[in-house]
Amino acid sequence: MKSTPRGRKLRPLPPSSPPRGVSQKESTNSSPFSKGGFCNDLPQGEGHVQRAGRDFHSTERNAGSMYSVTKEISFCYGHRLLNHRGKCRHLHGHNARAVIRLESESLDELGMVVDFGDIGNYVKAWLDAEIDHKMLLRRDDPLLPLLEAADEPVYRTEENPTAEHLARLIFERVERGGYPVVEVAIHETESACASYRRS
Ligand SMILES: [Zn+2]
Repeated sequence: MKSTPRGRKLRPLPPSSPPRGVSQKESTNSSPFSKGGFCNDLPQGEGHVQRAGRDFHSTERNAGSMYSVTKEISFCYGHRLLNHRGKCRHLHGHNARAVIRLESESLDELGMVVDFGDIGNYVKAWLDAEIDHKMLLRRDDPLLPLLEAADEPVYRTEENPTAEHLARLIFERVERGGYPVVEVAIHETESACASYRRS
Protein backbone atom coordinates (compact mmCIF):
# COMPACT_ATOMS: atom_id res chain seq x y z
CA MET A 1 0.00 0.00 0.00
CA LYS A 2 1.53 3.27 -1.04
CA SER A 3 -0.95 5.89 -0.03
CA THR A 4 1.29 8.42 1.66
CA PRO A 5 2.26 11.40 -0.47
CA ARG A 6 5.97 11.31 -0.99
CA GLY A 7 6.85 14.38 -2.95
CA ARG A 8 6.98 14.74 -6.68
CA LYS A 9 4.92 12.49 -8.85
CA LEU A 10 6.81 11.94 -12.06
CA ARG A 11 10.48 11.49 -11.91
CA PRO A 12 11.54 9.07 -14.62
CA LEU A 13 14.80 7.38 -13.93
CA PRO A 14 17.80 9.06 -15.53
CA PRO A 15 19.53 6.97 -18.17
CA SER A 16 22.31 6.18 -15.71
CA SER A 17 19.90 4.64 -13.20
CA PRO A 18 18.56 1.31 -14.41
CA PRO A 19 15.30 -0.06 -13.00
CA ARG A 20 15.57 -2.08 -9.81
CA GLY A 21 16.83 -5.56 -10.53
CA VAL A 22 18.45 -4.59 -13.80
CA SER A 23 22.18 -4.18 -13.91
CA GLN A 24 23.81 -1.20 -15.60
CA LYS A 25 25.17 -3.52 -18.27
CA GLU A 26 21.74 -4.93 -18.97
CA SER A 27 20.02 -1.57 -18.90
CA THR A 28 22.18 -0.18 -21.67
CA ASN A 29 20.59 -2.69 -23.99
CA SER A 30 17.15 -1.17 -24.08
CA SER A 31 15.95 -3.47 -26.82
CA PRO A 32 16.58 -7.16 -27.19
CA PHE A 33 17.10 -6.43 -30.87
CA SER A 34 19.70 -3.70 -30.38
CA LYS A 35 23.35 -4.48 -30.94
CA GLY A 36 24.72 -6.49 -28.05
CA GLY A 37 21.27 -7.01 -26.58
CA PHE A 38 21.27 -10.76 -26.78
CA CYS A 39 22.75 -12.97 -24.13
CA ASN A 40 23.63 -15.97 -26.21
CA ASP A 41 26.90 -16.19 -24.34
CA LEU A 42 25.05 -16.79 -21.07
CA PRO A 43 24.22 -20.33 -19.96
CA GLN A 44 20.74 -21.63 -20.54
CA GLY A 45 18.41 -21.82 -17.55
CA GLU A 46 16.81 -19.47 -15.09
CA GLY A 47 16.74 -15.85 -16.20
CA HIS A 48 16.38 -16.72 -19.84
CA VAL A 49 13.35 -16.73 -22.06
CA GLN A 50 12.83 -17.88 -25.58
CA ARG A 51 11.18 -15.50 -27.99
CA ALA A 52 10.97 -15.99 -31.72
CA GLY A 53 13.70 -18.56 -31.50
CA ARG A 54 16.14 -16.11 -29.88
CA ASP A 55 17.48 -16.29 -26.39
CA PHE A 56 17.94 -13.20 -24.22
CA HIS A 57 17.93 -12.25 -20.57
CA SER A 58 14.45 -11.85 -19.06
CA THR A 59 15.37 -8.83 -16.93
CA GLU A 60 16.16 -6.74 -19.97
CA ARG A 61 13.73 -3.94 -20.76
CA ASN A 62 11.91 -4.97 -23.87
CA ALA A 63 10.42 -2.65 -26.43
CA GLY A 64 6.70 -2.34 -25.81
CA SER A 65 6.82 -3.21 -22.11
CA MET A 66 4.79 -0.95 -19.85
CA TYR A 67 3.95 -0.41 -16.18
CA SER A 68 0.35 0.46 -15.34
CA VAL A 69 -1.44 1.65 -12.20
CA THR A 70 -5.08 2.52 -11.57
CA LYS A 71 -6.60 4.76 -8.93
CA GLU A 72 -10.27 4.77 -8.02
CA ILE A 73 -12.12 7.73 -6.50
CA SER A 74 -15.77 7.81 -5.46
CA PHE A 75 -17.92 10.91 -5.70
CA CYS A 76 -21.54 12.01 -6.16
CA TYR A 77 -23.09 14.19 -8.81
CA GLY A 78 -26.44 15.12 -10.26
CA HIS A 79 -27.31 15.85 -13.88
CA ARG A 80 -29.89 15.63 -16.58
CA LEU A 81 -29.43 14.99 -20.27
CA LEU A 82 -31.00 17.40 -22.72
CA ASN A 83 -32.92 15.78 -25.61
CA HIS A 84 -32.85 12.37 -23.91
CA ARG A 85 -36.06 10.47 -24.54
CA GLY A 86 -35.92 8.42 -21.35
CA LYS A 87 -35.67 9.03 -17.62
CA CYS A 88 -32.30 10.73 -17.95
CA ARG A 89 -33.98 13.91 -19.16
CA HIS A 90 -35.06 14.49 -15.55
CA LEU A 91 -32.83 15.68 -12.73
CA HIS A 92 -31.27 12.71 -10.94
CA GLY A 93 -28.03 11.72 -9.28
CA HIS A 94 -25.33 9.05 -9.17
CA ASN A 95 -22.85 7.63 -6.71
CA ALA A 96 -20.06 7.27 -9.21
CA ARG A 97 -16.52 5.89 -9.31
CA ALA A 98 -13.76 7.32 -11.43
CA VAL A 99 -11.07 4.81 -12.40
CA ILE A 100 -7.92 6.53 -13.61
CA ARG A 101 -5.30 4.45 -15.40
CA LEU A 102 -1.74 5.66 -15.84
CA GLU A 103 1.13 4.04 -17.70
CA SER A 104 4.86 4.50 -17.96
CA GLU A 105 7.73 2.60 -19.53
CA SER A 106 9.94 3.49 -16.57
CA LEU A 107 9.57 3.93 -12.82
CA ASP A 108 10.56 6.81 -10.56
CA GLU A 109 13.21 6.56 -7.86
CA LEU A 110 10.66 4.95 -5.54
CA GLY A 111 9.85 2.26 -8.07
CA MET A 112 6.45 3.73 -8.94
CA VAL A 113 4.63 4.89 -12.05
CA VAL A 114 3.02 7.46 -9.78
CA ASP A 115 2.32 7.65 -6.07
CA PHE A 116 -1.28 6.57 -5.40
CA GLY A 117 -1.53 9.28 -2.75
CA ASP A 118 -0.39 12.01 -5.14
CA ILE A 119 -2.75 11.17 -7.98
CA GLY A 120 -5.61 10.53 -5.53
CA ASN A 121 -5.16 13.87 -3.78
CA TYR A 122 -4.81 15.72 -7.07
CA VAL A 123 -7.99 14.35 -8.63
CA LYS A 124 -10.00 14.40 -5.41
CA ALA A 125 -9.18 18.08 -4.81
CA TRP A 126 -10.58 18.96 -8.23
CA LEU A 127 -13.63 16.71 -7.87
CA ASP A 128 -14.39 18.11 -4.42
CA ALA A 129 -14.14 21.68 -5.68
CA GLU A 130 -15.99 21.31 -8.99
CA ILE A 131 -18.09 18.16 -9.28
CA ASP A 132 -18.87 16.40 -6.02
CA HIS A 133 -22.47 16.96 -4.82
CA LYS A 134 -23.08 19.42 -7.64
CA MET A 135 -25.58 19.45 -10.49
CA LEU A 136 -23.89 19.06 -13.86
CA LEU A 137 -25.85 20.89 -16.54
CA ARG A 138 -25.13 21.83 -20.13
CA ARG A 139 -24.47 25.53 -20.47
CA ASP A 140 -27.71 26.13 -22.38
CA ASP A 141 -29.88 24.17 -19.95
CA PRO A 142 -32.77 26.45 -18.94
CA LEU A 143 -32.53 25.17 -15.38
CA LEU A 144 -29.07 26.68 -14.90
CA PRO A 145 -30.17 30.24 -14.07
CA LEU A 146 -32.91 28.91 -11.79
CA LEU A 147 -30.55 26.75 -9.75
CA GLU A 148 -27.94 29.49 -9.59
CA ALA A 149 -30.58 31.95 -8.39
CA ALA A 150 -31.49 29.46 -5.67
CA ASP A 151 -27.80 29.28 -4.70
CA GLU A 152 -27.62 25.58 -5.63
CA PRO A 153 -24.15 24.31 -6.65
CA VAL A 154 -23.90 23.68 -10.38
CA TYR A 155 -21.15 22.81 -12.86
CA ARG A 156 -21.57 24.02 -16.45
CA THR A 157 -20.56 21.64 -19.20
CA GLU A 158 -20.01 22.34 -22.89
CA GLU A 159 -21.61 19.04 -23.89
CA ASN A 160 -24.46 17.01 -22.46
CA PRO A 161 -23.14 15.97 -19.01
CA THR A 162 -22.96 12.26 -19.77
CA ALA A 163 -20.58 9.85 -18.06
CA GLU A 164 -18.55 9.91 -21.29
CA HIS A 165 -18.15 13.68 -21.10
CA LEU A 166 -17.27 13.50 -17.42
CA ALA A 167 -14.60 10.88 -18.17
CA ARG A 168 -13.07 13.25 -20.72
CA LEU A 169 -13.15 16.18 -18.29
CA ILE A 170 -11.29 14.17 -15.67
CA PHE A 171 -8.83 12.79 -18.25
CA GLU A 172 -7.93 16.30 -19.40
CA ARG A 173 -7.60 17.50 -15.82
CA VAL A 174 -5.21 14.66 -14.94
CA GLU A 175 -3.26 15.24 -18.14
CA ARG A 176 -2.84 18.93 -17.31
CA GLY A 177 -1.37 17.88 -13.96
CA GLY A 178 1.47 16.19 -15.81
CA TYR A 179 0.44 12.63 -14.98
CA PRO A 180 0.83 9.90 -17.64
CA VAL A 181 -2.90 9.17 -17.86
CA VAL A 182 -4.04 6.79 -20.60
CA GLU A 183 -7.69 6.20 -19.70
CA VAL A 184 -10.40 7.42 -17.36
CA ALA A 185 -13.54 5.35 -16.79
CA ILE A 186 -16.66 6.52 -15.00
CA HIS A 187 -18.74 3.82 -13.36
CA GLU A 188 -22.06 5.62 -13.20
CA THR A 189 -23.90 2.61 -11.78
CA GLU A 190 -22.94 -0.95 -10.84
CA SER A 191 -23.53 -2.07 -14.41
CA ALA A 192 -22.84 1.03 -16.54
CA CYS A 193 -19.37 2.34 -17.31
CA ALA A 194 -18.17 4.93 -19.84
CA SER A 195 -14.55 5.74 -20.56
CA TYR A 196 -12.32 8.13 -22.45
CA ARG A 197 -8.83 7.52 -23.78
CA ARG A 198 -6.68 8.74 -26.60
CA SER A 199 -6.42 6.34 -29.50
ZN1 LIG B 1 -27.60 9.86 -15.02
